[in-house]
Amino acid sequence: MINCEQLTGVVTDYMEGRLGLRLRFEMVMHMAMCPPCRAYVQQMRLTARLAAAAPVEPADAAVAAKVEQALRPGGGDG
Ligand SMILES: [Zn+2]
Repeated sequence: MINCEQLTGVVTDYMEGRLGLRLRFEMVMHMAMCPPCRAYVQQMRLTARLAAAAPVEPADAAVAAKVEQALRPGGGDG
């Protein structure tokens, strides 16, 4: 079984699907037993996703506000 240090060393390969089946399995097993490593991998995934995303356009804030307003219960056509 891999330890925390080994997990952090291969997390990038894990996210990119470059790990072998055995090491993948060991990572999953380790994360199942080790909440800190689970949180770490989740954080790494989130960071990678944000880094890959296109820059947020200013218009998004206005759209988000509209959506929030539309979703608010009891607003508008009362
Ligand atoms: Zn760990």
